[in-house]
Amino acid sequence: MTRSLTILGATGSIGSSTLDLIRGERDKWRVKALTANCSARELAALAIEFGADMAVVGDETCLADLRDALSGTSIKAMGGPQALCEAAAAGADVTVAAIVGCAGLAPVMAAVEQGSTIALANKETLVSAGDILMQAVERHGATLLPTDSEHNAIFQCLHGQNMADVRWITLTASGGPFREWSAEQLAKATREQALKHPNWDMGAKITIDSATMFNKGLELIEAWHLFPVGLDRLRIVVHPQSVIHSMVEYRDGSTLAQLGPSDMRVPIASCLAWPSRMDTACKPLDLPAIGHLNFFHPDEERFPATKLAREAAEAGGAAPAVLNAANEVAVAAFLAGQIAFTQISALVADTLAKPLPPAPTSLAEVLAVDAEARQLALRILEPA
Ligand code: NAD
Ligand code: MG
Repeated sequence: MTRSLTILGATGSIGSSTLDLIRGERDKWRVKALTANCSARELAALAIEFGADMAVVGDETCLADLRDALSGTSIKAMGGPQALCEAAAAGADVTVAAIVGCAGLAPVMAAVEQGSTIALANKETLVSAGDILMQAVERHGATLLPTDSEHNAIFQCLHGQNMADVRWITLTASGGPFREWSAEQLAKATREQALKHPNWDMGAKITIDSATMFNKGLELIEAWHLFPVGLDRLRIVVHPQSVIHSMVEYRDGSTLAQLGPSDMRVPIASCLAWPSRMDTACKPLDLPAIGHLNFFHPDEERFPATKLAREAAEAGGAAPAVLNAANEVAVAAFLAGQIAFTQISALVADTLAKPLPPAPTSLAEVLAVDAEARQLALRILEPA
């Protein structure tokens, strides 16, 4: 049986891993839409390779290049934020949501409204609009499959179990490249050092998020929406080897864990084939070669991100969307060389300390909170 597939963010790290997986089983998939922000030539080459129906760039100024690269083919070229939503709404059986940041929110919602299966990597959408998105999933009968490795692990460990029996859900965190750095060293951490993750090869934004531990903070909020056991049952353990991707402890004392190589093709494959399994070319797990697994409590003095995220979840309303927006601004500023590494969490804390907008109740209101929080974070960064 052939299934249709759309990849939102096809040129990124998750998008490439997804395409790599379906390269191995071309007869099983028909590609509907592939999207990117700009990279028109790269997107066009992928659309041609996979025989996609359409290719879409979010940035409309790149549409002319895309059209040019696709001339002579029957692939439809589109551009602009609305076109991303049209592509997402084209009704693929499976949509891989792999845009980075809140920019992915409207397209994810458009896919949810089709009631199809969404493999969700784009965690910022759940952080900013978790309640609204989860309600829409319910209303439209969509299937949300968590692709983030921790959440995919938890999803697998919860399968066939009763939520009422869960005692703890433990998210593991690698601790990032600066796990053992002092506060003084962290203040001087460079862009290049922060972009070198010890275990995972990922896009720039999530790599910086891993270094600050905002990635784990965002994942805490993501887990809170996906697995309704309550915030007080979610905890974080630092596990530098990234072999155990997360765990669920039940009330009888049993802990189920999912293990695997640090390769996103494993959780993506789990989503693509769910509830079945598919072959991947991933390296098998060689536990004797790994030798030992370590676990530590997170240090929220040096890495305040997880504390800020927990507080934002507790505050509820607009706070998680403000946290996400401020973090996106801060990461961009750090990558542009405008602020120091430790200023990332400081900027998020300063933005959250300002009066919060009212709780958003629709997608449009979340996007308005996001825009307002970005403006505020930018003003804190560069006072007029
Ligand atoms: P990436 O930067 O490698 O790729 C992002 C993709 O989104 C690209 O195709 C890019 O063109 C597109 N894009 C970026 N900005 C856009 C915009 N404004 N409008 C439309 N398209 C836009 O990112 P990634 O590492 O693949 O991560 C994607 C998402 O998956 C993020 O939310 C990340 O947190 C999550 N995630 C990634 C990994 C990983 O291993 N890379 C693991 C878990 C979760
Ligand atoms: Mg993760």
